[in-house]
Amino acid sequence: MAYVADLHIHSRFSRACSSQLNIPNLAKWSQFKGIDLMGTGDCLHPLWQTELKSVLKDVGDGTYLYGGTKFILTTEVACIYSEGGSVHRIHILIFLPSLDSTFKLSEVLTKKGINLVSDGRPIMGMSTKALCEIVFSVEPKALIIPAHIWTPWFSLFGSESGYDKFSDCFGDFSDQIYGIETGLSSEPAMNWRVSQLDQKSILSFSDAHSLPRLGREVTIFGGQPSFLDLSKDLKLKNIIGTIEFFPEEGKYHYSGHRNCNVVYSPEELKQKGEVCPVCKKRLTVGVMARVEDLATRTNEQLEIINDSGVIKSKAYPKRAGFRMLVQLEEILAESLNSSVSSQKVKDLYQRLVTTLDPELKILTKTKIELIAMSAGEKIAEGVKRVREGKLTIEPGYDNTYGKVKIFNEEEESKKQEQISLF
Ligand SMILES: [Zn+2]
Ligand SMILES: [Zn+2]
Ligand SMILES: [Zn+2]
Repeated sequence: MAYVADLHIHSRFSRACSSQLNIPNLAKWSQFKGIDLMGTGDCLHPLWQTELKSVLKDVGDGTYLYGGTKFILTTEVACIYSEGGSVHRIHILIFLPSLDSTFKLSEVLTKKGINLVSDGRPIMGMSTKALCEIVFSVEPKALIIPAHIWTPWFSLFGSESGYDKFSDCFGDFSDQIYGIETGLSSEPAMNWRVSQLDQKSILSFSDAHSLPRLGREVTIFGGQPSFLDLSKDLKLKNIIGTIEFFPEEGKYHYSGHRNCNVVYSPEELKQKGEVCPVCKKRLTVGVMARVEDLATRTNEQLEIINDSGVIKSKAYPKRAGFRMLVQLEEILAESLNSSVSSQKVKDLYQRLVTTLDPELKILTKTKIELIAMSAGEKIAEGVKRVREGKLTIEPGYDNTYGKVKIFNEEEESKKQEQISLF
């Protein structure tokens, strides 16, 4: 049985996260989205732990139930430390098999002086290696995954704070780290180019800070939604596929300076250099340029194929394929000429995901004619174009999301002209 998982999310106890992030809402929205296994997020935060304990039902296989939604205990932590003269800031995901193990780990970390109260994504004043040592000694079954591994400021391979080598980051624990999270600004094919990652499962999750963002990236695992099966799937790379943002939409795809209005593609960066022509400081080097730095293979060597929207490598056929999608609310907003936060879009979204199909199914599988019947021709056309990758994206850079356009302006003005004839 395959299942859809979103294992990097946050609760309302993480900084800059929505106050709506409680378990009943997470369960409700996971049904809207079509997610079978949710991470709880923030499982080391004492108030969130109390809530989890009181509302979730222990299934006994490392998962916990609320309504029809299964959860596993997850958290993200930030390791901030200096090593060999440079400062590293690395975000790490930890998955734990029981509430008891979250309490035990909290106790050990608190005794070491770590503040778990002020942020659901706590800061660890220790190296990733020291963190692995503690986590695995408290809970040998724990799973550790480096988060959004290419983001410049907070990740394993980040241009500003990371490492060039996986093994320099994790040392003796490298082989016990079974997967990596691609983050929004990279997709699996970019990661297939880096041979250091050949033995790792390539994972995608939403890193949602609010309910509508859940499931914007997910991983479809091959086994059962239990903790033991999840570990096996990670170890054996038993992954059916991932659903991705178009990486250009991510906040750090290109390089540049937002305030100076400077954006460079990797080629431009190579030509013009890393110094900002406006403020003369170093540019924030984006994910694409960083992948180029660490890549051991070219795109051509991967022999990428597009099999009705599923992207695969002909040269590395064992790698799980992926689809790139745009969130349904964005498609609705553009089709209705409205904003994602408008009531019109919200109401239509709710109606579609409760009466037609969950969002991920609408985006990938629901018959276009059925979408047209419930939502109108234009929205159906929008979904079709997203499935076919027929859209334009202004790439994101320096902490700014890329801008997606599904319908182009020429078409729009032609339509307006036709309408004005009547
Ligand atoms: Zn993070
Ligand atoms: Zn996060
Ligand atoms: Zn600048």
